[in-house]
Amino acid sequence: MIIYRKADEITQYISNKKKNNISIGFVPTMGALHQGHISLISKSKADNLLTVCSIFINPTQFNNPDDFKKYPITIESDIEMLVAAGCDVLFLPQREEVYPTGFIKTHYELGKLENILEGRFRQGHFQGVCLVVERLLNIIPCDILYLGQKDYQQCMIIEKMTQLRNINCSIKISPTIREKDGLAMSSRNSRLSHSERTAATIIYQALKYIKSNLKNKSIEDIKKTAYQMLEQCEFEVDYIEITDQHLGFVEHQDSNKTLVGLIAATINNIRLIDNLILTDFDE
Ligand code: AMP
Repeated sequence: MIIYRKADEITQYISNKKKNNISIGFVPTMGALHQGHISLISKSKADNLLTVCSIFINPTQFNNPDDFKKYPITIESDIEMLVAAGCDVLFLPQREEVYPTGFIKTHYELGKLENILEGRFRQGHFQGVCLVVERLLNIIPCDILYLGQKDYQQCMIIEKMTQLRNINCSIKISPTIREKDGLAMSSRNSRLSHSERTAATIIYQALKYIKSNLKNKSIEDIKKTAYQMLEQCEFEVDYIEITDQHLGFVEHQDSNKTLVGLIAATINNIRLIDNLILTDFDE
């Protein structure tokens, strides 16, 4: 695996590959890699001749400075995992490579998507996500960008940003990879103590509860019980919502729509999110 730390060098490398019609898949990450990230690398490898991963903990998307400071960093094992997964290129930049002129504020017109759910609880977060992904896509102009459904709203925001900026790459969204007990894999899970880690399975259990009761209970009652489930496990709940696939809130059961359950909750200052398609009966 080739490691680039300089933006102009990787851009030059990618442009040479593009001249030779080599299709490029790109997986942006913040590191502390797990099998969720690796599943995206595998998807990219299956579709493209060249797979590029980036590891960059983007300061502009952290609304909480403590979360930024405590974000796990495991570069050595990340590199080992990427090599084992057959990733071709890693972009591992310092902040100045991504933001050579500092954090110049650009505003993205994201519409209602920006201030609901994650946006409501993490002011400015999605502007920061758009800024870094636009920068990374300028540095690494890929054919296909690989994202995880784990960050459902982020996928929609990035799709919107690429449309707003006329960025010519397609986006593929991959299913959430979970631990055996259902907890969605996340870099932040490594910060959980043993008892918090055990408690954290309640998030997936609550999503499953929502899914299995959708037909026989009111949405209001289902959400109430799901809240109680999380609170009994010492989680502070930011939101438990049921939406359509475009993240429009749904108050009443509608059998014609694809529905999604989304949860964000915090334990001991560690904020976890997860979601589940409620109308897909395979999961
Ligand atoms: P992050 O490093 O958390 O910024 O995530 C980088 C990419 O990996 C994003 O597209 C995430 O949605 C995706 N991702 C994170 N966790 C998972 C997971 N458990 N399953 C699948 N994709 C994931």
